[in-house]
Order: sequence, then C-alpha cells, then structure tokens
Amino acid sequence: MHNKNSINPCALDPIDPMLATSSNDLISENKILRERLEDLLDQAHRNQQIMRRHQEFDLQIIGSNSFNELINNLFSSLTETSELDIVTLCLLDPENSIRHVFLNQHGSLSKFPNLFFFKTKEELGPLHDSLHQPILGQYSPSQHSFMFPQRMLEPVSVAIIPLLRHNKLIGCLNLGSLERSRFSVNLATDFIERLGSIIAVCLENGINNERLKQISLTDPLTGISNRRYIEQRLHEEISRARRQHYSISCLYIDIDHFKKINDRVGHQGGDIVLCEVARRIRAELRLSDALARFGGEEFVVLLIDAELTNAIKVAERIRASIAHQLFKLSLKQNINATVSIGVATLTNIDRPETIEATAQRIIAQADHALYAAKENGRNKVICLG
Ligand code: GH3
Ligand code: MG
Ligand code: MG
Repeated sequence: MHNKNSINPCALDPIDPMLATSSNDLISENKILRERLEDLLDQAHRNQQIMRRHQEFDLQIIGSNSFNELINNLFSSLTETSELDIVTLCLLDPENSIRHVFLNQHGSLSKFPNLFFFKTKEELGPLHDSLHQPILGQYSPSQHSFMFPQRMLEPVSVAIIPLLRHNKLIGCLNLGSLERSRFSVNLATDFIERLGSIIAVCLENGINNERLKQISLTDPLTGISNRRYIEQRLHEEISRARRQHYSISCLYIDIDHFKKINDRVGHQGGDIVLCEVARRIRAELRLSDALARFGGEEFVVLLIDAELTNAIKVAERIRASIAHQLFKLSLKQNINATVSIGVATLTNIDRPETIEATAQRIIAQADHALYAAKENGRNKVICLG
C-alpha cells in the first residue's frame, strides 16, 4: 500500500538521456583514473622495493671487510639484486700488483672466474676510448667479447660501466642480460653511473688496503713475510689444526757466524747473503708452508700438516742447499755460508691451553733446539724430544 505522500521512484520524471550519458562518462573516466592510479601506486611500490634492494647492495659493498669479500659481494649480490644473467669485472693492472695481492691471498684466481686483469686500456678492445660513461646496447662480439671473454653465457644486451677514479680508468664493470630490451641505447644511465662511482671508490679502497696490509706483513729486504705475518699465521694454523687434527712443525733457522760474514764482505754483501738464504729456503718448501724473516739473520718456517720425521727431512734439505753451494756476491767474490736449524713439532695440540700459549710453546721449543744446534758445532739440524 502506498502512502499518497510517499515518493515512488518509479513515479519520477524519466532521466534526461544527455545527463545519463555524461554521468556514465564520468563513471568510466573515474574508473580509468582509478586503475591508472593503482598502476602508478604499484609502480611506485615496485620502484621503492628496487631502491631498497639497491640501497642494501650499496651498504653491503661499502661494508665489505676485505677485497676478497668485496669481489664476492659484487658478483653474487649484483647478479641477484639487479636480476642479471652475467656480471664480469675487468681491472687495469699494468704492474700485475693487484693480481699479485690476489695470488698471495688465494694462491690462484680460480675462485673468481669472472674477474679479469688487463695490462693496458687497449686490451679492452675497440670500446676502450669511449669508456668515459656507461655504454648500453645489444651485445656485439667484436666490441664486447673483451669484457665477456668467458663465453659460457653470451649476453643479449649489455651495460659496460667504466670505473673511474680522479678521471682515470681503473677498470670496467660489465652487466649482461639475456633480455634484448634490458639495456637499450636510450635507457637513462644515472643509476648505472652512480653504481659505477660507488664500486670504483670501494675497489680503489679495497686494493689500497690490501697493498698496505701486504706491506705491513712483508720484510722489505728479502721480500718474504715478516715476524708479524708468521705470528698471525701460526695462530690461524693452530686453530685450524685443532679442528682438523693435523700436525704443524716449526723450523727456527739462524745463519752461522753472520757477524763474521758481514765483517768479511760488508753489510751490503751480508744483505745479498740474507736474500739468497731466503730464496734457497723458499725453494725447499710447499706453497702451503709459510716462511718469514723473524729478525736479523733468523728465519722461521711453518710446515703445515708435517710430522717430525718429515720436518727433519725438509730442514736437512734446507741446510744442505745452503752449505753445498757458494754464494755469489760479484763476479770476483764468492762466500760460504751455513745455517743451524732447530726443529719442533706440535704435540698435544688439543691440550687445554690458549692458542697464544701453544704458539709460544712451539717457537720456544724450536729456539731451544736451534741453541743446541749451535752448541753442537753449527751447520746442524737438531730436534729435542
Ligand atoms: P751465530 O752463529 O751464533 O748465530 O753467530 P752470528 O754472528 O750469526 O750471530 P750474532 O747474533 O752475534 O750476529 C748477528 C749479526 O747479524 C749481527 C748483525 O749486524 C747482523 N745483521 C742483522 N740484521 C742484518 C741485516 O739486515 N743485514 C746485514 N747485513 N746484517 C744484519
Ligand atoms: Mg741470531
Ligand atoms: Mg747467527
């Protein structure tokens, strides 16, 4: 039952068709705008996530504790963060000094298959003169194979990012993707340039730190390690030997009557003898063993994974290689030299004492044995108990 005064919607005037059309237009326009806004918000959200990942990457790169960690982070995190298929790093190393630092630390470069060293800019191929700013585009073997020499995975599009410090090229970082549209010529390069600047600074710092570390652990006269290095290394080796249960032996080597050698051939002649003794000791060791000039005319060798009998054999070889061959100082002057060697092997490696105490124990034992070798007439290898 309808009240006479109530409003019956069906009884209203029919809607003006013009009005209805414009209202429909507004609704669909509103819908389109709303969808566009949602797209923009989605895009903004994605960009924010990308920014956050890149910020995390920057922090990880900047926070790398060593050159090794930096290179590892660069390859693993960059590939992941930027969803790249291949990343390579070319470093200019005209004097082989960076390679030397790496080899010293790792023995080989096999852990870093995507790291390449170049002596000159020209070795980077036809693009070497254009490396002032990033070069993006489709992969071309004639231009880019220098940056991607390992053709395990040939990229489709690439970004070659020059690494510059004080306007000088120190290398290039090379990003490769299997997507054709990933690095197109027209793409804005601000982000990539910023990435290149951060990586260049971090690499330069990392390389300088490693060089300083190396200098601080090297004996300038003989070029072998110094006492600080061997003491650090002994601590590391003791804790590893405790975990993996192997023996460490120590040789304490001292040149006999070195004061007399200096008196005879002068301090410079003595220096030549020191260098040659270091070389002859090194020649008898494995790569995994460690040798240092411990001070003056004294050397310490750590033989890793060597029992006493083996250590005595190595010591005997060293003694013989020094005693049996004259030291050539000049065309006219030769001199004889001999060494005395004290040998000690770490036993009871698991006994409850600090690593420092164990380290002191093995050095002291070798030193006592050396003293006995001197007492027994020099040019001898002695081990006590
Ligand atoms: P011993 O057989 O008992 O070891 O006698 P030694 O003469 O070798 O031992 P001593 O410790 O009396 O003398 C060591 C000498 O080594 C004295 C020092 O002048 C010399 N020496 C230390 N460092 C250097 C160096 O860098 N270069 C040269 N040429 N001589 C050095
Ligand atoms: Mg001495
Ligand atoms: Mg001596």
